[in-house]
Amino acid sequence: MNSMEKRAVIIGGGASGMIAAATAASRGIETVLLEKNEKLGKKIYITGKGRCNITNQCDIEDIIENTPGNASFLYSALYSFDNNRLRELLRELGVPTKVERGGRVFPVSDKSSDVIKALNKYMNRHNASVRLKKEVSGIRVSGGSVEGICTSDGDFISASSVVIATGGLSYPSTGSTGDGYRWAKKLGHTITPLSPSLVPLETREGWVKELQGLALKNIRVKALTTQGKSIREEFGELLFTHFGVSGPVILTISRFICDWIKDGVKLRIDLKPSLSHEKLDARMLRDFSESPNKQAASCLDGLLPKSLAGVIITLSGIDVQKKINQITREERQRFINILKGLELNVTGLRPFSEAVVTAGGVSTGEVDPGTMESKLVKGLMFAGEVLDIDALTGGFNLQIAFSTGYVAGMSCR
Ligand SMILES: Cc1cc2nc3c(=O)[nH]c(=O)nc-3n(C[C@H](O)[C@H](O)[C@H](O)COP(=O)(O)OP(=O)(O)OC[C@H]3O[C@@H](n4cnc5c(N)ncnc54)[C@H](O)[C@@H]3O)c2cc1C
Repeated sequence: MNSMEKRAVIIGGGASGMIAAATAASRGIETVLLEKNEKLGKKIYITGKGRCNITNQCDIEDIIENTPGNASFLYSALYSFDNNRLRELLRELGVPTKVERGGRVFPVSDKSSDVIKALNKYMNRHNASVRLKKEVSGIRVSGGSVEGICTSDGDFISASSVVIATGGLSYPSTGSTGDGYRWAKKLGHTITPLSPSLVPLETREGWVKELQGLALKNIRVKALTTQGKSIREEFGELLFTHFGVSGPVILTISRFICDWIKDGVKLRIDLKPSLSHEKLDARMLRDFSESPNKQAASCLDGLLPKSLAGVIITLSGIDVQKKINQITREERQRFINILKGLELNVTGLRPFSEAVVTAGGVSTGEVDPGTMESKLVKGLMFAGEVLDIDALTGGFNLQIAFSTGYVAGMSCR
C-alpha cells in the first residue's frame, strides 16, 4: 500500500467489529473485516436467550450508572452513538425494535439472527468486504504506527488503521479467546486483571444440591466480606444449581465481588424481605395452630417450597419428624432467623465459559475516549469488550460495543 492509500482492517465480526466496519466503509475508506469463524456474530446469536437485548431505552446517565467498569470513559462514545441512534439504524435496516420490562430493547421479531442480518446488510451497503475463516495472528507496527496485520495462513494485509474488536474471554466457543489482549500487551498496553463477570457463583454448602433447579422470586441477597462489610445488595430472582447459585441477582452480585473473592465472600439471603421477623412469627403460629399434630415441613407450604422448607428446618436444628406442637419457641426463632438470613459461603466464580462478560481488559487510560485510538500506537483502535469496560445486564454491554465500534469506525483514516 503506498502512502496515499487508506485501508481499514477490522478484526472481529461481532457487534463492535461489524458496526466499525460499516461506519469506516461509509466514509469512503476501503474496509476489510476479518473474522476467524465461519460466520459473523456468533455471540450476538446467543444474546438475550436468542432474542438479543440490543440496548436499553434509558438516559445516557442511566447507562453510565449500569456500567460498573470504567463508565466515565464512555460519555463521548455514547453521545456520538446512543440507544436512539442504534434503534433508528436497525429500523432503517428493516429490524424494528420494542421496549420491554426495565427498558430492555429487543427486535420486534424476537430473533437475534435478524440483528446479525441487519448489520451484514449495513456492511454490504457500504461495500465493506468481509472475509470469514480468516484468523489474524498479529499486528505489525513500525515507527509507532500500524502497518497492517498478519493472518494465521501466512497473509499480510497492509492497513492505515486497524480496529481490534476481538471481544473478551467469555463464551470462548463464540470466538472470543482473548487474542486482542495478547496483541495489545505485546504493543505495550496495560491489560487490567481479567475476571469472569455476570457469572454464577460456587458455594461451599453441600445442601444447595438438594435445591438444584429451584428458582426463588422476590428475595433479597446481600454480599458481605468475611469481616461483615457489605459489598452489594440486590433484590429479585435467584436460582439454586448443583454447584451453588445463579439467576439475575447473582449475576449482578458477581460483578461486585470479584475483587473480594480471594478473601472470602458470604451471601446473606432474606427469603421473605416483605415480612418482618414479628410478622413471620405470627404467621407461623397461625399456620401451626391450624394443624398442631402435623410435621412442620407439611405446614409451611404457603410460606416456602417444600424442598427449601426441609433444608431450613434441618439448618435450624429441628428434627424433621417433630410434630408442630412439639416445636419450641427457640426453635421457631432459629427457623425465622435463617429465613431472614440464609447464609452461603462463596468459594469462587464459575469460569469464563459461563460468564456473560469479561471485566478488565485494555486499560482505558491508554485509549483516547473520543476516537478509541491507542495513545501508544497510531492508527490502532479498540472497540467492544476487549476494552476495560463492562456493564450489568439489560442491554448495556451491546450498546457499549455498538457505541465504541461506531467511534472506532469514525476514526479510521
Ligand atoms: C450468553 C450471553 C448472552 C448475552 N446477552 C446479552 C444481551 O442480551 N445484551 C447485551 O447487551 N449483552 C449481552 N451479552 C454480552 C454481549 O454479547 C457482548 O458484550 C458483546 O457481544 C461483545 O461484542 P464484541 O464485538 O466486543 O465481541 P464479540 O461479540 O465477542 O466478537 C468478537 C469477534 O472477534 C472474533 N475474533 C477473535 N479473535 C480473532 C482473530 N484472531 N481473528 C479474527 N477474528 C477474531 C471472534 O470470533 C468474534 O466473532 C451476552 C453475552 C453472552 C455470553
